[in-house]
Amino acid sequence: MSYLSTLRCSMCGREFDPAGLHYLCESCSQDYHPGMPLKGILEAIFDYDAIKQTWDEFLNAFPEASEQQKMDELCDLFSPLNRDYYPNLPVGNTPLIECANLLAEPLYLKFDGVNPSGSFKDRASSLVVAEAKRLGIREIVTASTGNAASSLAALCAAAGLKAIIFTPAKAPVAKLVQIRVHGAELHKVEGSYDDAFAQALEYSTQHECLNRNTAYHPYTIEGKKTAGLELFIQMNGVPDYIFVPTGDGVILSGIHKAFSDLRQAGIIEQLPVLVAVQAESSDAISSYLENGYYRDAANPVTVADSISVKTPSAAHLAFRALKECGGMAIRVSDVEILSAQKMLAERSGTFCEPSSASTLAAYFKAKEQAWIRNGAKAVLMLTGHGLKDIQAVDFAD
Ligand SMILES: *Cc1c(COP(=O)(O)O)cnc(C)c1O
Ligand SMILES: [Zn+2]
Repeated sequence: MSYLSTLRCSMCGREFDPAGLHYLCESCSQDYHPGMPLKGILEAIFDYDAIKQTWDEFLNAFPEASEQQKMDELCDLFSPLNRDYYPNLPVGNTPLIECANLLAEPLYLKFDGVNPSGSFKDRASSLVVAEAKRLGIREIVTASTGNAASSLAALCAAAGLKAIIFTPAKAPVAKLVQIRVHGAELHKVEGSYDDAFAQALEYSTQHECLNRNTAYHPYTIEGKKTAGLELFIQMNGVPDYIFVPTGDGVILSGIHKAFSDLRQAGIIEQLPVLVAVQAESSDAISSYLENGYYRDAANPVTVADSISVKTPSAAHLAFRALKECGGMAIRVSDVEILSAQKMLAERSGTFCEPSSASTLAAYFKAKEQAWIRNGAKAVLMLTGHGLKDIQAVDFAD
């Protein structure tokens, strides 16, 4: 059973019945068109009192519960869907590694590269696939340049659903192989990611299917929320800082939602400070936070393909999340990213994508500039596996 009570517009507060299929708020998205950040993204709202009661009952009944038992029982309370609908390919539950070899202070690495398709995106795909199963929908469409598509392909395969992918020309070859090997239907789009986004939207208005475009369906955010809930259990409390590689801003919004839900339920008081980490050229959310108004990234070319975004879908939601938690944004260069990738591989044993290594580069910058407190507990979200883009690795120096 789920404690979901309603879907609420993040802009005007209008509510929608979660029994049906909803994307953006109809009022707030009237003047939305592809090529601008989404407007009227819906948020799942829960019966927080009931969650708190069940949470306390569990902890009272099982005071010696292991971390794994807590992850299984407690994180689930915040899921909008019953577990029965989940595809039979477990995602999430990823390790939190305490690494003492990078700096004098311990640093926590949340390694999501070990998900079935090798990235954090599996968290969202799994929940969207579950929702399609609940609704009896057999096809799911998405626009993506890489991980969202390879992830959807894998999870649809596990559930016996069809994945339809719109992708603009170039993506790392391993990601394209994943899409194909899992049997997804691939439509190559002439043009940009925005064009692919538009075509996927068009497709879903004309076919009976579910659209997984990032942030468009509220469960893409709910799926990404699970990492924040796991962190709370694994750290036995709220970390001080969480460094999040940020492109569309949906992972950031999802992690924020986890702690905001925990706070609404009265389980925590303080939110963690989120750090949006962006590549220098793909910095729309960083500029938004600094300037207070939104503007596209002019030319988002970076080695970190997963965070290369011109128009972040969840820019407004991510902006609000950063404001609420007193968060910050840090830009890092491709050179810094690649050197951080090697350092993580050599000193922690984790091999992550350039997007994910950006978090270590940003952490170093934050320490250098004294933007974060000494002795604070910081987590780096390592969102994707390094084997997804071996061409990117820089062996020079
Ligand atoms: C998609 C992705 C990101 C960025 O997530 P957004 O929600 O677009 O900000 C970071 N790392 C990896 C590996 C990804 O696939
Ligand atoms: Zn609205």
